[in-house]
Amino acid sequence: MEVLSKNMNRFFIKHSPTKLIAISSFFSLTVIALLSGFINLNVNKVISVQTSYATKINISGFQRMLSQRSAYFTAAYVEGRDIEDKSIAQESVQLLQQRHRQLLTSLKNPLNKRLKSISSDELNALYFELPNNLDKNLNQYASTIEEMLSNPSRVSKNDLRKLKLASQTILDKFDNVVQQYEAESKEQIRNLRTLQLAFLIAIVALFLIQVFAVINPLLKIAEKLSARLLDEANIDPLTQLHNRRLLDTLSDQVIADFKRYKKALALVIIDIDDLKKINYTYGHAVGDEAIKIVAGTIRAVSRKSDKTFRTGGEEFLLILPNTRTEGAYVLVEKIRKGVQKSNKSSDIENFRFTVSSGVSEVLASENSINNALKRADNALYQAKREDKNKTIIAKSH
Ligand code: GH3
Ligand code: MG
Ligand code: MG
Repeated sequence: MEVLSKNMNRFFIKHSPTKLIAISSFFSLTVIALLSGFINLNVNKVISVQTSYATKINISGFQRMLSQRSAYFTAAYVEGRDIEDKSIAQESVQLLQQRHRQLLTSLKNPLNKRLKSISSDELNALYFELPNNLDKNLNQYASTIEEMLSNPSRVSKNDLRKLKLASQTILDKFDNVVQQYEAESKEQIRNLRTLQLAFLIAIVALFLIQVFAVINPLLKIAEKLSARLLDEANIDPLTQLHNRRLLDTLSDQVIADFKRYKKALALVIIDIDDLKKINYTYGHAVGDEAIKIVAGTIRAVSRKSDKTFRTGGEEFLLILPNTRTEGAYVLVEKIRKGVQKSNKSSDIENFRFTVSSGVSEVLASENSINNALKRADNALYQAKREDKNKTIIAKSH
């Protein structure tokens, strides 16, 4: 677990979380942009497929009408011999054949650009295979009409009845083709819609992954890292106590609470006696050790609500909420005796070091800790004058 967290630390020092967020956001935004592009292309495809089928269905509808019209005017011409009827019938049958060829080109050539590819086995079967065989039927129908138009006198009543029946058959076959076009159009649109939905789901999923699996955890890590940096900036590395930087902020909070709840607030300044001598006699490292011992003793006896600082080289400040000077005195004496006890257990021969302290209390009329600090400092000064290794409570004015 520790190895893991060490590796994570190393990783996040090398790659800052904000940089990782930027990279991953760039990546997912690019993918989202691409997917949006695909969606756009897909929408265009849907529109073009729909248009293409609509064109074919329209043409087929027109073909139905032409087949009816050609049969009707052929019959009229045979019966009345009006040249006008003949030309309408001729025109209709020619157009019918022309459009038919047009549709067939697109069927046989799926890459035909203008009508786009709509060529399925089913459609080919409807045009070219039994039982529908529309192509053959339509050609026969057209040549029957042309035959009747050029030789109207040979047309019997029975022939006309057959023509009527044939035109009905052609209608039914066109219906089959139109139904097939509609079914295929629906099928293709359904497939494209499914694809569209898949793209949308991918975009939403990517967005959610980006937010919940990347940005959120990385932001939490960034938050932790910045909180740790802030902590490190406010913590003395030798003793792990608060440093002077945090004093203003914390003392403001403490004074605000003191004014609000009207409880007692005691201050203690602790100073190591003759540290200069210790440094001189035993070396700076032992002096540092003495500072650490005092800090450890302070930590061991203080409460969670107490604020403990290393304010100077070998000077400590304790801010003790809800505590009177008497209570503070008891606490400081514990520290003083604790420090003395640690001397005895030291490995260094004749090693003796003690602390002196000044204790004061913030007055109800005061709005900052400054005056109480001065009083504690004076009391400390007095302790130093009176042989040191002492705790003195300041007078409260
Ligand atoms: P007094 O009993 O009057 O406090 O005497 P003192 O020598 O402790 O007091 P003074 O304030 O004159 O000197 C403090 C000394 O503490 C000066 C410096 O050499 C030492 N000191 C300050 N910071 C450190 C530190 O981080 N490590 C060590 N080893 N010594 C320090
Ligand atoms: Mg000092
Ligand atoms: Mg000192």
